[in-house]
Amino acid sequence: MNSAYLYLQLYRLFDDITPVPADCGALCDKACCKGDEGGMYLFPGEERVYSLLKPDWIRIEESDFTYFYNGERKKLKIAFCDGTCDRYQRPLACRIFPLTPYLEEGRITVITDPRAKAVCPLAKALLNDDYDRTFRKNVKNTFVLLGKNPEFRAFLAEYSAYLDDFGRFYK
Ligand code: SF4
Ligand code: SF4
Repeated sequence: MNSAYLYLQLYRLFDDITPVPADCGALCDKACCKGDEGGMYLFPGEERVYSLLKPDWIRIEESDFTYFYNGERKKLKIAFCDGTCDRYQRPLACRIFPLTPYLEEGRITVITDPRAKAVCPLAKALLNDDYDRTFRKNVKNTFVLLGKNPEFRAFLAEYSAYLDDFGRFYK
């Protein structure tokens, strides 16, 4: 499977669909796009999108987050921007924010990203059902599809444990 083309197809689900049917950036002065040093994780294989498109607004590095797959520990990639991007090329993490996938008793679900609660007014105020229905559905479908790949599932198990650690601090 060519993961670049799969991610590019999935991106399209979020070209016009946003967490709420309003410009939430007006609430917070686009707090999630400040181009600080935090960066956003690329999901496994997503870095191939940027090898293909070669945009000049993104910098990709190896992150400290690792997951075990196929007998080896793999490093997840992380992307940095300067607070601007081509909207149609932005990473999946930006498109689904402040939601994120989570593996709960072997089932793929979608939760509010506990890391988002420190910066995002939506994450602080909304319950899952308050987000745009199509947005929620697209996030869920995206990760159910990606979760069919064994490497993605291995990643998701460790990513969910990592989110649990954050969740202890941000309730
Ligand atoms: S931080 Fe939250 S409310 Fe602000 S632009 Fe990002 S998603 Fe919207
Ligand atoms: S890539 Fe775009 S959407 Fe993502 S944080 Fe940077 S400016 Fe915001």
